[in-house]
Amino acid sequence: AAGVALRTDIVVIGAGQAGLSAAYHLKKQGVPPGKGFVVLDANPFPGGAWQHRWPTLTLSTVNRVHDLPGMRFTETTGEALSSVQARLAVPEYFAEYEKRFGLPVYRPVRVLQVTDRADHRLQVQTDQGPVSTRGIINATGTWNTPFIPDVPGRERFLGRQLHTQDYQNPHDFLGQHVLIVGGGISALQLLDEISQVTETTWVTRREPEFRKGPFDDEAGRAAVSLVEARVRAGLEPESVVSVTGLMWTPQVEAMQQRGVLSRLPMFQHITEKGVVWEDGRSLHVDVILWCTGFRSSLSHLSPVNLREDTGGITLTGRLATQVARDPRIHLVGHGPSASTIGANRAGRAAVQELCAFLGIT
Ligand code: FAD
Repeated sequence: AAGVALRTDIVVIGAGQAGLSAAYHLKKQGVPPGKGFVVLDANPFPGGAWQHRWPTLTLSTVNRVHDLPGMRFTETTGEALSSVQARLAVPEYFAEYEKRFGLPVYRPVRVLQVTDRADHRLQVQTDQGPVSTRGIINATGTWNTPFIPDVPGRERFLGRQLHTQDYQNPHDFLGQHVLIVGGGISALQLLDEISQVTETTWVTRREPEFRKGPFDDEAGRAAVSLVEARVRAGLEPESVVSVTGLMWTPQVEAMQQRGVLSRLPMFQHITEKGVVWEDGRSLHVDVILWCTGFRSSLSHLSPVNLREDTGGITLTGRLATQVARDPRIHLVGHGPSASTIGANRAGRAAVQELCAFLGIT
């Protein structure tokens, strides 16, 4: 493989918040870079999925990007203006972080699949060649796996359809009627910006539930433990917003005053020109923007059969990162740790448990 050690003890797949936290703790624990561990990342530059976020997502409109362990965000950004784009500021921070701690990140290297070897090792097949390893910390996030529900007629629509992942700028839709589908944080943010420049309609499956009052640590812990219970039981994790609810903020208040917050229930099918509800009502739209979320990017792990009949991957260990069916593999930034703070903690727990399991350091 081009520059990749062919044989190592631990491969970290992905260099987002979760992968970098794991790499930091491996280094701190004395696992030697290269021979002891490598990080493989498919992106061309540091920054994980943040480098792909839409330009209007700024440091004031993200919820909160937690510091990685051992170095503050403000060390690269200074007291960054809240108008700074997240897709620029976060990658700058990650780049500096990788350099400061000498983390062995190889990029762009895409992991294609992970298979079992006869000698109890795992074979990581990449687009740059194979790497043999004893353990894996998987930190591949969700950005590469956008989810769009299978609504009948989707392929017939003659207007434009796009997913949150493709979104760039509200001005792309000037003069068009945009249908925004989804009840999560991204749907709400994009509805806010697009409705300021053009006509919008908002559709959600369920009545959105707004949380009045602050989203404090206790509420965060309660939300995480709900998702954690699911993955410990071998079920697919639910979306974060389904357990946290939406925040009632001054922006949301302003949206309500502008009259853009009223939502319609989910439509039943799609036609060439728009959407139709069960009761026969229809609406012509030019654009359908699917803000319907992401799924964990795990297809490269299919050959090692981690899934249960229940559809999910049972996770165990202190923070539910270790795969019950194959303790050589940890999933971080997944399910209960799919947030910047969760990814930090999961990276540490996964390193401690995997090193203990493999008898390293
Ligand atoms: P990523 O940052 O997605 O990194 C995964 C890395 O893995 C990528 O670099 C990718 O290229 C690489 N990769 C994927 N597949 C492969 C492969 N097969 N081979 C090699 N490399 C691969 N959380 C918060 O706490 N606060 C927020 O404000 C917040 N805002 C968000 C806004 C949006 C729009 C979204 C989508 C998420 C947001 N989150 C937020 C969630 C948060 O970004 C993540 O949970 C967190 O950053 C953890 O990232 P990660 O390391 O799991 O993944």
